[in-house]
Amino acid sequence: ATPESTISEAAEIRCLDLKGFVGFSNLPQQLVKKIKRGGCTFNIMCVGETGIGKSTLMESLFNKSFDMEPCSHELNTVELRERQFEVEERDIVLKLSLVETAGFGDQLDKENSVRIISDFLDRQYEMYLQEELRVRRDMRVYQDTRIHVCIYFISPTGHGLKALDVYALKMLGKKVNIVPVIAKADTISKDELKRFKAKILDELRLNGISVYTFPEDDATAGEENATFNAVVPFAVVGSVDFVQKGDELVRARQYPWGIVEVENEEHCDFLKLRAALIRVNIAHLIDRTHSVLYEQYRSRRLRDLGVRDGDIGPGMMQAYQLRRNELLEQVKTKENQLKESFIEKVRLKEQELKVKEKEIQGKLEALRQDHSTVMRQLDDQLKRVEKERADFESAKQQFLSQKRKK
Ligand code: GDP
Repeated sequence: ATPESTISEAAEIRCLDLKGFVGFSNLPQQLVKKIKRGGCTFNIMCVGETGIGKSTLMESLFNKSFDMEPCSHELNTVELRERQFEVEERDIVLKLSLVETAGFGDQLDKENSVRIISDFLDRQYEMYLQEELRVRRDMRVYQDTRIHVCIYFISPTGHGLKALDVYALKMLGKKVNIVPVIAKADTISKDELKRFKAKILDELRLNGISVYTFPEDDATAGEENATFNAVVPFAVVGSVDFVQKGDELVRARQYPWGIVEVENEEHCDFLKLRAALIRVNIAHLIDRTHSVLYEQYRSRRLRDLGVRDGDIGPGMMQAYQLRRNELLEQVKTKENQLKESFIEKVRLKEQELKVKEKEIQGKLEALRQDHSTVMRQLDDQLKRVEKERADFESAKQQFLSQKRKK
């Protein structure tokens, strides 16, 4: 290596600080390079009832105030609200996109609520697919909007999952990395929380719901990921308030009996959630979204479009174009066949109508002839009657004159 390259490599060596706030400045070098190029956005979706603490948790997670309008319970449908922002940690700026589901849980029609979210996820995959299929494309600058993680908020009822949760988790689990959290965990006691977690895990298993598993086969993060998997669903507490504790200000919720600290592992799993999502697994979440979840969507869509299994690979574009042309040809032939059959049908109908018209004209002619025959007969009868009347009149005259002569 040249002396210059050694210097520039040395300048790039980052000093990792495990206490970094959000934790993404400790990401692998390759991802940090991507983030610095501006080519990496982390897209998070929060799904949960209105008022369950989604915005508060996001503020706590990224230590940022969002000044969001609280959402009303009166929405007629589920609305997806997107917000983009950047978080900076040391010299690294991570672009984040947050999607929140306003009105979720307030609707009677749970299937429709979930469909709106599921369609949104599909739309992001479709946009990426369309970009990939373009002849001139540059995926490095494409603004990826596919959702990398969906944080699903479970109400701290202590009773397990609601019907809406089961349905939503079942449907969305196939399309996105789901990380379930128990919201407002400060409202539930420690023992109750233990039982609640076990119940939720049981219900997830019984309903065949797959949530995201932190990869334990990872050489560097395997052990840490095992501790994250052991606490799923994360019991979280969020707060926008800070409370004085000794000589430091801590993010906490204050109660008459004391405080619940957000960033205290004794109080909740918030720190574990943040480490699990951002510091340790952001790259895996992004990668799994692309190589597993998007791949499933892509294979399904391409098969729908008629691309066969063997076509997928480096020659996929040519195969796609070839198949597309074949399909267009088939559509054209079908269109011509339809046109011809339509013309034939019109011709037959015209013939049928002509025959009917002739029949009607024949009947009309016969009626006309019948009518003139009857008229003629009536005319003859009239003439006969006229003649009889004249004969009678002259006979009458003769008779009267003879009578007068007598
Ligand atoms: P969203 O509608 O899901 O975004 O809910 P918000 O984040 O706006 O929170 C709704 C209310 O719940 C606010 O009054 C928050 O202060 C409160 N809240 C948020 N997180 C927690 C929590 O962890 N524990 C408790 N007890 N309340 C919370």
